[in-house]
Amino acid sequence: MSTMRAVILKRPHEIAVEEIELITDLAPDEVLLKVELSAICGTDIHPYEGRMEVEDDLRLGHEFLGTVVDAGVGVQLWSAGDRAVASCVVNCGFCHMCRRNQPGACVGLRIFGLGLTTGGLDGGQAEYVRVPAADLSMRRIPEGGAGTDEDYLMVGDILTTGYEAVRAHYTPGDVVAVVGAGPVGLCAAMSAQVLGASKVILIDKIASRLKEAEAFGAIAVNADETNPVDAVLDLTEWRGADVVVDAVGHPSALATAIRLPRAGGSLAIPGVYNEETLEMPWGEIWFKGIKISGGAGNITRYMDEALALVVEGKLNPGRMVSHRMPLSEAAEAYRMFHAREAMKIVLDPPADPPSVPVPDQERSP
Ligand SMILES: [Zn+2]
Ligand SMILES: [Zn+2]
Repeated sequence: MSTMRAVILKRPHEIAVEEIELITDLAPDEVLLKVELSAICGTDIHPYEGRMEVEDDLRLGHEFLGTVVDAGVGVQLWSAGDRAVASCVVNCGFCHMCRRNQPGACVGLRIFGLGLTTGGLDGGQAEYVRVPAADLSMRRIPEGGAGTDEDYLMVGDILTTGYEAVRAHYTPGDVVAVVGAGPVGLCAAMSAQVLGASKVILIDKIASRLKEAEAFGAIAVNADETNPVDAVLDLTEWRGADVVVDAVGHPSALATAIRLPRAGGSLAIPGVYNEETLEMPWGEIWFKGIKISGGAGNITRYMDEALALVVEGKLNPGRMVSHRMPLSEAAEAYRMFHAREAMKIVLDPPADPPSVPVPDQERSP
């Protein structure tokens, strides 16, 4: 039996890197990917904190990139040696919703590394991962593009998630306001900038994150110092923002975000909510005619556009990587990420070099 190492959530707050069986039997639509890079995401923190109920010994990770080792008999587009990034959300491609180009609403939706309630796919924070519906869910990493592997890695989730939050609701020239300057919020803000927003406003309370936002031309609003509703009104001739993104996924962020769209504007909510009910200013929402959208990202619908912008060098989400750590240090990486000591951590399975924080200047454009 061959084995591989994988990041395993033993129970909330307890991560182990264990040697487990490497399954090489593939379903007809699957490929076996040798993982070269994976990342820890805010979504991983839901099971890590115990806020999302998952089975014991869960293999984590839904953001990964690697090289195809083997492909199932039905796979048309992939063969050994191809390099690819996978969508974190796997959709079927055939159901009513998929045929209407809404893969995030797929009846057979599955997500890597988040347990049985999201389809039970093994996670990609491992040396190998099986990717189902590979022809649909993976994209080739082009040779000679302007992106780095860390840029391409983000296409599978956070970049495309942030990109969709803006792109799906937006008209060129819009003012885009983003609540939360974490990785998804920064991806949304940099996407808005590239798509041609007239202003991009980023709201957070962490000064270093706001500095990162300013580095690529966004207007930073520190919610500890300024009322974000007033700030957005001031910047939009008292209208409110055309497109608002809640990239946090916490009721306090939503309470701010819901007050920021102009009449007829949009609120996109890529942030994850588990609450059954929330108090909302319904009269204001109705009178303003705010369009609200949420749910799992339509990754396979938008990842080609996001990928193309990375290839052209117009989007560089890899700049958000603050720490590169070997897979063996995953427990420490999760602790740091959970403690907000790191903006974005990539795990590097094969090389296992000592962990190094990335100096700030390397992340500037
Ligand atoms: Zn993610
Ligand atoms: Zn489907």
